[in-house]
Amino acid sequence: MAKSKAVQIRKHGGPEEMELVDVEVGEPGPGEIRIRHKAIGLNFIDVYQRSGLYQLPMPLNLGMEASGIVEAVGSGVTHLKAGDRAAYASQPPGAYCEVRVMPAKCVVKLPDAISFETGAAMMLKGLTAQYLLKRTLPQGGLQAGDFVLFHAAAGGVGLIAVQWAKALGLQLIGTAGSEEKCALAKSLGAAHMINYGKEDFLARVKEITGGKGVKVVYDSVGKDTWDKSLDCLQPFGLMASFGNASGPVAPFAPGILGNKGSLYVTRQTLFTHIATRESTQEMADDLFAAVTSGKVEIRIDQRFPLAQVQEAHRTLEARKTTGCTILTL
Ligand code: NDP
Repeated sequence: MAKSKAVQIRKHGGPEEMELVDVEVGEPGPGEIRIRHKAIGLNFIDVYQRSGLYQLPMPLNLGMEASGIVEAVGSGVTHLKAGDRAAYASQPPGAYCEVRVMPAKCVVKLPDAISFETGAAMMLKGLTAQYLLKRTLPQGGLQAGDFVLFHAAAGGVGLIAVQWAKALGLQLIGTAGSEEKCALAKSLGAAHMINYGKEDFLARVKEITGGKGVKVVYDSVGKDTWDKSLDCLQPFGLMASFGNASGPVAPFAPGILGNKGSLYVTRQTLFTHIATRESTQEMADDLFAAVTSGKVEIRIDQRFPLAQVQEAHRTLEARKTTGCTILTL
């Protein structure tokens, strides 16, 4: 048995609903581990789960990403042992805490070359960039030189995708909400950046691509960017919707996809990709190689103590962050 502080909500709502509470943590059951965290990742999905955009049963312990040391393993767990350095992107939530028991299948060993803070910052965001760029492909795949459009390119997932896309030879056109964010993403490898707070991103995409449009749009902004994003695509292009930072996309009639050039639309979630231990390990190995080779730098631009989690959420929702944010213990 262990004691832990954990961030909990009793009902959906604003950041003020989050409370630091004391919880008892038991022994891991079959297929589970107990992990003592060293650092915790902050993600926009935590905001959706807190606000109620994604409805979950109450009370709810928040948090989807962390790193730490394995303290105990339950029966049937063979890929981890007590004392291992480890990291994860988890389903179910509950990562905003010091110690927890959780399913082992989403946890992987963290290579010695990667720090706990980097491990905590990069699992959910890095595995998302991995599946978007390598497993969510347009017809015929992506080739070096292809144009793609990536919204919110200076954010957590965004800056990882910018660097990885460059390593793959893609011409990534990014959007971001300020000149500073655009300059940051450009310095890390975006071929072009558009300040979509000031400029019409559709007109700029047409200009940059000589009127052709892009093969894929990666859209996590949702409501505010959806319509124009469809118009940025080449015929047979792929709209990869993966988030709703500005609100959910309104229902639409599939006929518009035909009118706009026989487009494809997909709405994916990381948790389908990491549903098995094998796929989680394969994707994590690819991410670890990208990071340890230096192709992808995991930028931690904000740190908040766990007790200041309300402030961390306010900062993320106010679009004041760049790159990754972690909660420290
Ligand atoms: P980010 O660090 O990217 O933060 C979100 C960014 O979205 C903001 O910084 C802001 O950038 C932009 N944004 C645009 N409109 C708004 C708005 N109205 N309110 C707030 N932000 C806005 O977050 P993450 O890296 O954690 O996640 C990025 C996105 O990817 C999220 O939407 C998240 O839900 C999604 N996601 C989806 C996954 C999946 O598998 N489906 C997995 C992981 C993440 P700017 O100011 O530059 O516009």
